[in-house]
Amino acid sequence: MPIGKGLKNTADEAVSKELEALQMFLRNPRGRGARQFTADEINYFNDIIKKKDIYPVVVHIPYICNPASFKEDLYAFALEILQHDLSRCVLVNADFIVLHPGSYTSSTLEEGIDRIANLLNIVLNDYTGETCILLETMAGQGSEIGRNFEEINLIMQKIKNTDKLGVCFDTCHTFAAGYDSTVIEGLNGILNAMDSTFGREKVKIVHANDSSKELGSRRDRHAHIGQGFIGIDGFTNIMSHQFFKGLPFILETPFEGIEADIKLLKQIRDKNS
Ligand SMILES: [Zn+2]
Repeated sequence: MPIGKGLKNTADEAVSKELEALQMFLRNPRGRGARQFTADEINYFNDIIKKKDIYPVVVHIPYICNPASFKEDLYAFALEILQHDLSRCVLVNADFIVLHPGSYTSSTLEEGIDRIANLLNIVLNDYTGETCILLETMAGQGSEIGRNFEEINLIMQKIKNTDKLGVCFDTCHTFAAGYDSTVIEGLNGILNAMDSTFGREKVKIVHANDSSKELGSRRDRHAHIGQGFIGIDGFTNIMSHQFFKGLPFILETPFEGIEADIKLLKQIRDKNS
């Protein structure tokens, strides 16, 4: 959900779209700017979320942050944004904050993993907040870290305090990374692969996106539900699995036409409940 028109508008839109869960950026997703919220809009937003029983509220940090960067200025920027957004999660009672592990660019995978782990240790060491930080599974474009569960786990193993750290499972990214969630054998393989790394219980939310690119393409292109290579059958496979039935699904498909995606996910969920 966009917040450009203020949190009141975000809350009203959430109601009119009949959302059961919600994700938003607290600033421009591709830029630095962060507007101050007024007490009035914060109260309004939190009232609606409570009244409509919307859960969870998820915050996504901007895409431009690279918490694995070996360049000091970009690294410091990612740290500053994460800490600032995390401090603002309290205002909107966010349950989760999602971040991409980042890219190692011209460094190495091992160094990139060290960088992101170090950054998370700085944030989590004396963290006493309620919002849980989630590392997102990635498609593996270029030097993106987190294209398999082993890489996510390598990061997590370096974190001292993992009580407030979990994983966000993106259906498009994992599919593009080569995990076939569209068939039952593939899904069972995914759950086994989770259990032999960070453990499936670390997955707290699902980013539900179809994929415009093929299985294993390592290209991150979100498609509307049913209009990509995962398809309705793929989402039916995922949503009828006992494990995924217990998780909140968050859409990140193109905002134009997202109403149809919401309807489709609800239909698939209800048919398989
Ligand atoms: Zn995602």
